[in-house]
Amino acid sequence: MADIPDSHPRKASLLARAKLTEAAAEGLLAESALIAHGRGEAFDYLLGEKTSESASLAIRETAARLIKAERAVISLNGNTTVLAGEQAIRAAAIIGCPVEVNIYYRTPERMEKLTSTLKEIRNKVSQMSPPAGWNGVQWHDSVNSIELLGADADGRIEGLEGPRAICSSRGIEVADAVLVPLEDGDRCEALVALGKQVYVIDLNPLSRTARMAHVTIVDEVSRAMTELCSALVEEPEISHWDNGQALRDALAIMAQASNQIPS
Ligand code: ATP
Repeated sequence: MADIPDSHPRKASLLARAKLTEAAAEGLLAESALIAHGRGEAFDYLLGEKTSESASLAIRETAARLIKAERAVISLNGNTTVLAGEQAIRAAAIIGCPVEVNIYYRTPERMEKLTSTLKEIRNKVSQMSPPAGWNGVQWHDSVNSIELLGADADGRIEGLEGPRAICSSRGIEVADAVLVPLEDGDRCEALVALGKQVYVIDLNPLSRTARMAHVTIVDEVSRAMTELCSALVEEPEISHWDNGQALRDALAIMAQASNQIPS
């Protein structure tokens, strides 16, 4: 990985690029993955590359709803696995839910690579200390018991055609709540139409996904997932959530970026 000094103002962004470039070379990502990341980066620049107060509220709301869900699942694509796989495994251990690899451009090779990557991450996280405030049983056991789904490909998302409809019958198909960072608009719409609660992380407050979800966290996925783990441990309460307001808050922050230009 590139050796970037801590003082570099764009260190986190450059490290994310390096991680994704390496993962792409290893065959973990679809060809369009870096383009999708670039679109996200542009919005993050406007957000000041930090989690806003409004995004923090969305994170707490998502945490509250995931804890209350009967059958939650965390759905990961390639970019999310690479950028926030560790946080996703930690979150799944706290919630006690499966993680499903679900990718738009599905090939057996990429499914296998992403699943093996998550197995390695699960093993690593099981040997790490539990999150501060964790009062569950054995952290090691909670992490190791996370089901890694996706390769089974025996479920369907009704309302979608072709390979994009494929999912796990024990994951997304039966879930009542899906945390799906970086989802595509069509799939988000189909999941909502099936009556599932859908929580997304998307830096673009105007994407169809962002507008369709029940709770949208407008934030960078690794920052948001790190904060989600802390919020889950605190077990917040569900509120009267206004998702439109969360999207407007994000756009207002981006509009204020013009204040940085010298007059
Ligand atoms: P939609 O179909 O929902 O309108 P889209 O076609 O714009 O979305 P895609 O190209 O499928 O979206 O996916 C990229 C989305 O993911 C963009 O909205 C981008 O802002 C967001 N994104 C990319 N990287 C990140 C990241 N690291 N963290 C959060 N969001 C990200």
